[in-house]
Amino acid sequence: MQESDLKPDIETVIEGYRETVRKIACAFPPEESAKIMSAFECANRMHSTQKRKSGDPYICHPVAAAVIISDLGLDSDSIAAGLLHDCVEDTSSTYEDIQREFGKPVADLVDGVTKLGNIVYSSREEEQMEDLRKMFIAMAKDIRVIIIKLADRLHNIRTIEFQRPVKQSEICLETMEIYAPLAHRLGIHNIKEELEDRSLRILDPVGYSEIQSFLSGKEEVFSQFLERQVVRIKEKLDQSGIECEVRFRLKHVYSIYRKLYGQNLTFDEIYDICAARIIVGQIVDCYNVFGIIHDLYRPIPGRFKDYISTPKPNGYQSLHTVVIGGEGIPFEVQIRTEEMDKSAEFGIAAHWKYKGGLRGRQKEEAFAWVRQLLETQQDTDAEDFIKNMKVDLFADEVYVFTPRGDVINMPQGATPIDFAYAIHSEVGNRMTGAKVNGRMVGIDYVLKSGEIVDIITSKSSIGPKRDWMQIVKTTSAKSKIRQWFKKERREENYEHGKSTLDRELRVALIYDSFMLPEFLTPFLKQLGLPNLDELYICIGYGGMTASKIVSRAKEEIIRIRHAREQQEIKLPQQTKRKAIADTGVIVEGLDNCLVKFAKCCTPIPGDEIVGFITRGHGVSVHRKECANVRSSLGNQEEYDRWIATEWEMSERHNYNTAVKVVAKNRAGVLSDVVSALGNMKINVNELSVRENADGQSLFFMTISVTGKEQLDLVINRLKRGSGVIDVMRCLAGSETGR
Ligand code: MN
Repeated sequence: MQESDLKPDIETVIEGYRETVRKIACAFPPEESAKIMSAFECANRMHSTQKRKSGDPYICHPVAAAVIISDLGLDSDSIAAGLLHDCVEDTSSTYEDIQREFGKPVADLVDGVTKLGNIVYSSREEEQMEDLRKMFIAMAKDIRVIIIKLADRLHNIRTIEFQRPVKQSEICLETMEIYAPLAHRLGIHNIKEELEDRSLRILDPVGYSEIQSFLSGKEEVFSQFLERQVVRIKEKLDQSGIECEVRFRLKHVYSIYRKLYGQNLTFDEIYDICAARIIVGQIVDCYNVFGIIHDLYRPIPGRFKDYISTPKPNGYQSLHTVVIGGEGIPFEVQIRTEEMDKSAEFGIAAHWKYKGGLRGRQKEEAFAWVRQLLETQQDTDAEDFIKNMKVDLFADEVYVFTPRGDVINMPQGATPIDFAYAIHSEVGNRMTGAKVNGRMVGIDYVLKSGEIVDIITSKSSIGPKRDWMQIVKTTSAKSKIRQWFKKERREENYEHGKSTLDRELRVALIYDSFMLPEFLTPFLKQLGLPNLDELYICIGYGGMTASKIVSRAKEEIIRIRHAREQQEIKLPQQTKRKAIADTGVIVEGLDNCLVKFAKCCTPIPGDEIVGFITRGHGVSVHRKECANVRSSLGNQEEYDRWIATEWEMSERHNYNTAVKVVAKNRAGVLSDVVSALGNMKINVNELSVRENADGQSLFFMTISVTGKEQLDLVINRLKRGSGVIDVMRCLAGSETGR
């Protein structure tokens, strides 16, 4: 045959691929088989103008992926998706096109594979890689997506030599960091080993060939040696009546590489380069075989591992032991049942291959198991293990990128604010906006896995806003925002809190009592605050309200005062405080002084009162609710001149007070009012009449009453008069007619 005859035309090549797919398809029922074939035809049509870097028609790649997927024993949807996996990415097909022709399950698988392909990796630190792997899984949603992606990657690695050298090492590094560990976690050992060995050959050609040449130099010796052992073992087991299959293998290059360079061993120190695998029918035989092997060879102490009673976290089961053969060559013996062997070889894929796929409930359970499996690497320590057991958390996480490519792991529902604070408090505090995948978003935007988040900050930002507390999802962001308000605004909070609390305390007339150390110290302790400054700051920042503090303090002060009075009453020589002569008013600490009743609020018994020490005119008595009192108490200098005052209730006097009557503007109303007062024997001392803007009559009167009780009777009586609209007491600040 001549060279030119060997190069078949393109139709023949395509027909060859079609035949390959047909062989895969015929294992399925007619309907599924038809779906696989039409997926092939569709992909073939869509990729018809494209070529691989190798020069082959592009369709060779999806077909190769489909073969790998089929070898792993996955279902027909996965195979169809494998054939179509590059259609959405590289051709004009859309998700909808695939859904229409092949159904939603296939479309979702293709979509998943496409999305994973869009994640960009660069070399990162180990912990970042771990997050990347998790993100990969979180985004995949369906474990079959990852398996299809692995098949895609495996074929790309098999044809890596057609890529540019730079691209080669990029792809291989990514394979080592992402795909091989994933294959390992899924327990798909064949793919894992092939990915590792092929990548190593590109990444460290010298190291690879050193091991490769060692192995091929020893191949003859090793394989002859192992064949003799197989015969020997089989003979012995036959005598014992145990049915078994014995195979042998050499350790794969990368795992030798890891032992040489990772554990710093020499070839001679690696005992398990050669391994024999004994497959038996039942578990009990595993242990019998183990006994026989240890009779037959000299075991190396401390190398026996029982992964049957304690399987590895990824479900791997087997007995391992290392023994030394007749020629002084050590080798590992792995003993397991048929079922264990299959699950060791195919990992998660064994569920499809040997258990007829997964459906409904069973599927969910299997996925829960997979999640757990992915979470718990076989070599994690106890702390990690507990952390990883929180599988439910895992499903609720999102993984997003910084513009630099670092992965940030956050709970579902996290916003750009959470992200900003996750990076650094300062980034959060200076944040003014955010971009996701290059577009501006609101600060309450909910982040999704795989998005690139860029926080916009400004030096002139005035800091976080209080309503951010309602938006953020993470407790750490919440507490950082709270911290900021506490710290950054400390001065401001202090000033604001101090002026609010001091004013309120004065209005309540408990400022002095409050500030007494014997009150304040235990009171602050009750509030859990170290000192008064902290209380001011707390009020200023809104952690507590001044009015609540004041009313609580007031209650406490009254309680203490009562308790003290209770004690004082029991004392025999108790001196009763006396009222100032002819006033009926007791002024604290003063037995004899000039007392006047303030014109602005005209207090009468029954009103709460307070005294003001005037300059040379004695004590002026006001109602506590008088507006003049309130404004004066806010003034530090005047504050000290206010003095506690109360009524001496046993004495009866008449007191002047001001009353306002609003009436209809007609003849006779005023005389009705005056005669009503006369009937009640109430003296009117002053009277003025005005008209308001609405044309109503206003009568301002100063009347003489014994106290609040009598005044209330008078007001009620006047209100009933005909033509009277309203009657009220006058207070300073209102129109008094003075
Ligand atoms: Mn591909």
